[in-house]
Amino acid sequence: MSANSLQELYVEQLQDLFDAEQQIIKALPKMIEATQSEELRDALTEHLEVTKKQADRVEKICDGLGEEAKGEKCKGMEGVLKEGSGLVKDISNKQVRDAAIIASAQRVEHYEMAGYGTARTYATLLGFDEAASALQQTLEEEKEADETLSGLAEQLNNEALNAEGQEESDEAGADSERPSTKSARSTKAGGRKHVA
Ligand code: FE
Ligand code: ZN
Ligand code: FE
Repeated sequence: MSANSLQELYVEQLQDLFDAEQQIIKALPKMIEATQSEELRDALTEHLEVTKKQADRVEKICDGLGEEAKGEKCKGMEGVLKEGSGLVKDISNKQVRDAAIIASAQRVEHYEMAGYGTARTYATLLGFDEAASALQQTLEEEKEADETLSGLAEQLNNEALNAEGQEESDEAGADSERPSTKSARSTKAGGRKHVA
């Protein structure tokens, strides 16, 4: 598929965002499940609900243009999410894992912010004012999610820092425990892969 006008490029960007949101809707429940902090879990759960509305918003914009929202796979988001889930599933320390979940989630938000900023600008240029303000709303929600994560990171990264110290002081225990925990975890993740 190749776009030969700004409007075609706009539609492709919208389809890319729609697919990215679908991937996030699938991935977030697993992230939420792996989270230890209740505050972080609540923030991710809330953003999952917001994400569903964002996907609907993109779909409505595509409908209005007489275009399908479903297009090609967003390989960028696929990579961001794959890296995030790979990172998180290998961490057995709960505090460090929460820090990794925040790190991964913030990459997701920033990738989305780039896409929505571009789509919003195209909508404005093409004279689709209603779509532009809907896309602006989503952009603001992504920024808000990112700021919430930054706020949570201030506390949770510190907890991860302290948790890491504790583990080092009990090196033998941590070493004997880690391999079995890790293999149990990867089996679990392998099982989930079939579901997704
Ligand atoms: Fe989103
Ligand atoms: Zn993409
Ligand atoms: Fe988001």
